[in-house]
Amino acid sequence: MSFSTEVKAELCRVSMQRACCTRAEAYGVLLHASVFSHKEIRLSTENVFVARRLQALLQRAFSVDCAPQRAGRKLQHTVGEPAQIARIFDVLGYDLKSHLAYHLNRNVLENDCCVAAFLRGAFLMAGTVAGPDKKSHLELKAGRQSLAGEETSLLLDLGLSPKQARRGNSCLLYFKEGASVEDFLTRIGAPRAAMELMQAKVEKNIRNTINRQVNCETANLMKAADASARQVAAIRAVLDRRGEEAFPEVLRETVRLRLAYPTDSLAELAQRFDPPISKPGLSHRLKKITEFASKED
Ligand SMILES: [Zn+2]
Repeated sequence: MSFSTEVKAELCRVSMQRACCTRAEAYGVLLHASVFSHKEIRLSTENVFVARRLQALLQRAFSVDCAPQRAGRKLQHTVGEPAQIARIFDVLGYDLKSHLAYHLNRNVLENDCCVAAFLRGAFLMAGTVAGPDKKSHLELKAGRQSLAGEETSLLLDLGLSPKQARRGNSCLLYFKEGASVEDFLTRIGAPRAAMELMQAKVEKNIRNTINRQVNCETANLMKAADASARQVAAIRAVLDRRGEEAFPEVLRETVRLRLAYPTDSLAELAQRFDPPISKPGLSHRLKKITEFASKED
């Protein structure tokens, strides 16, 4: 199941208790219908949950009984009966005779709750959202430029500012910031999906932080290993030619221990002395050894 399908399934579980919101949601659906005219209304979706929801919305908001029909991969609801279309137009406050441009009738969105319901209807028909494994992206295909403008102002009322783009003949509204996507989903009734996106973001941040720390530690270890390898090589060069006696007495224990434990860190190696010495003390002796070896060269 794609993430969009999952989100829509969640939206389809939102209660239809408030008549004002049910009507607003049905309105959002209709403005994104494949056909919405005084002669015919046709809704199509590939999503079974959405198809069931559409049937219930038409029934509750307009008392229109309309079961979906299969049309290839799609499920279609077609309303063609003039009396039913007249009823729908009446509820939405449209004049059946002047139907040139269907502007958004804000009167249908009486209450604040209805704006979110309207957008839910719109998203069910025309929305997609990228899953938690992808870059944040949510879009709503608004079709006409005027509708895109009207929906932008609804979103601005909710404190969300979508971007607009054109794709072919239709107008898109979209969000690219994770916070806006999550906010939009929460507002329209998909808080679980929003939470899933948020969680994925948190996990990704934690993973990145851990990776950074590991990379940093690895770099330090590499540096230590390089230093040790240089010291060992310097010691061997002197030993090969002149033996341990070449080193001053005070450095001999350090020479022996470095050769015996080449992978030890400074702290570990300092602890092996009897009695243990300090890290700066050991560092100083190792420096002396490499200096001594380079003079011997
Ligand atoms: Zn409402």
